[in-house]
Amino acid sequence: MPLRYLANFDINHLKKEICDVIIVGSGVAGLYSAINLDKSKKVFIISKESMDENNSYLAQGGIAAAVGEGDLPEYHFEDTIKAGAGQCDNEAVSILVEQAPGDVENLCNIGTNFDRNPDGTLTTTREGGHRRFRIIHALGDATGRELVDSLLRECRRRDNIAIIENCFAVDIATVKGRYAGLLVQHENEYKFVMSKAIIFASGGIGQVYKNTTNATVITGDGIAMTYRAGAELTDMEFVQFHPTAMYSENVEENKFLISEAVRGEGGILRNIEGKRFMPEYHEMAEVAPRDIVARAIFAEMKKTQSNFVYLDVTHKEPEHIKKRFPNIYGHCLEKGIDITKQFIPVCPVQHYFMGGIKTDLWGRTNIQGVYACGEAANTGVHGANRLASNSLLEGLVFGRRCAEEINATLNQMHAAMPDIVNERHATATVDAEAIKESIKKLMNDHAGIERNEKDMTMALSQINEFIEQLESSSMETAAAMETINISYIAALILKSAIRRKESVGSHYRID
Ligand SMILES: Cc1cc2nc3c(=O)[nH]c(=O)nc-3n(C[C@H](O)[C@H](O)[C@H](O)COP(=O)(O)OP(=O)(O)OC[C@H]3O[C@@H](n4cnc5c(N)ncnc54)[C@H](O)[C@@H]3O)c2cc1C
Repeated sequence: MPLRYLANFDINHLKKEICDVIIVGSGVAGLYSAINLDKSKKVFIISKESMDENNSYLAQGGIAAAVGEGDLPEYHFEDTIKAGAGQCDNEAVSILVEQAPGDVENLCNIGTNFDRNPDGTLTTTREGGHRRFRIIHALGDATGRELVDSLLRECRRRDNIAIIENCFAVDIATVKGRYAGLLVQHENEYKFVMSKAIIFASGGIGQVYKNTTNATVITGDGIAMTYRAGAELTDMEFVQFHPTAMYSENVEENKFLISEAVRGEGGILRNIEGKRFMPEYHEMAEVAPRDIVARAIFAEMKKTQSNFVYLDVTHKEPEHIKKRFPNIYGHCLEKGIDITKQFIPVCPVQHYFMGGIKTDLWGRTNIQGVYACGEAANTGVHGANRLASNSLLEGLVFGRRCAEEINATLNQMHAAMPDIVNERHATATVDAEAIKESIKKLMNDHAGIERNEKDMTMALSQINEFIEQLESSSMETAAAMETINISYIAALILKSAIRRKESVGSHYRID
């Protein structure tokens, strides 16, 4: 059993804040749920660092929605189910694909400036696993930036929404299995926020792995703290590895993503000998589902004893590349690679988490008053492998649905002041930073694209030892709390991955 609460605290002695709904996370899921809550409700949105420090802001490729000519939600449904390797919840996928065009329209109405064709229709592109052009995008390849900026603008227009930055959510208080408030660290002290409901839009788990495309704030805190409070977590073994992050010699660097849209628009994968290989692995070649492309690259890297393969767009019109992918073009140029003339070295890295806090179709968890949406939640739409550009979409559709459910039920909910004193007599000191780095490396090496029981069992036993050390030490800083959150998530991923003997989607057992 994990520790129930990480901090030493006595609620009676803490500064209190009160609102109707608190939202943990300022990515697409948190911001969109906030603007869909009734304007009569007092809403707090908290984020660990600045409001735009999250994965949503980094998103490049776009949002999948059947808005293109000749496309239908049924086709989007089929592609999502196929990518999910038989593990999707069909009802959740139907909701996702059918409600997608409506939420895209809502975004246009609040001023999200998607790229458009000369006739004013939305420009669509294609990514891995999609058989139609249905990915809408903004600023060429900086969709997330435009999305977050426009949602933030809308939140700031609303008097009922308060935005609180640099506020670290530590634990939720529960009384008799019902949510009773949130303990946060803010302005160098613990505070207690009372609200009737809480929405976890706290993102995924990228920093559990050494090599990841994710923002540094993404340490699985929301998933870990709801787990401590008794929330049901599911599909923890399903971790997605993006096939094409830019390879860098500097292992400390977060990995810069080369969007799947680059392959969707004709980019070719070549091994270090310059040979194209994807047609040998799948009939959809470079635009096969992500897990297949990631494994094919991994196999070619092993075959050629290299740490990377190449992505080649040198055959494309240079001016088109610069205009269509300005962010990728600019970043690669900074690193000394002109992608209109040179191949881009790429390798697969951790990118997305399909598992998480189990919710129903309205974002409800098994703890009354606790909702989840976005990457922190497991609504069942992604199954064992997320279809490209379905995650911003999931944050929108299910973020709105959380808000709609809360709007309909909040008046019947009550917030009562809990009386909780948590005394931890932990005196040991540990080097939390060193433990964090060891866990990230263990996960990279043993819970990656290819998995086997022997290595995962060894990794789990080391992580369990780290957990024991962390639990018996004092953890009063956010950095130390992040480390214990990472350690709980890592152990849960390994336990689920050991339990699932067969290979399915992103979970690939070589034994
Ligand atoms: C480089 C990159 C490119 C991507 N491109 C695409 C794409 O083109 N299309 C697509 O569909 N998906 C894409 N994805 C995936 C997608 O961006 C994410 O799945 C999605 O943005 C998650 O949104 P979210 O709102 O759930 O969480 P996030 O946007 O990750 O936000 C999480 C929030 O939770 C807050 N938080 C976390 N813990 C705490 C805590 N303890 N206390 C307070 N606050 C906390 C953080 O501060 C942050 O604000 C991409 C991901 C990456 C990394």
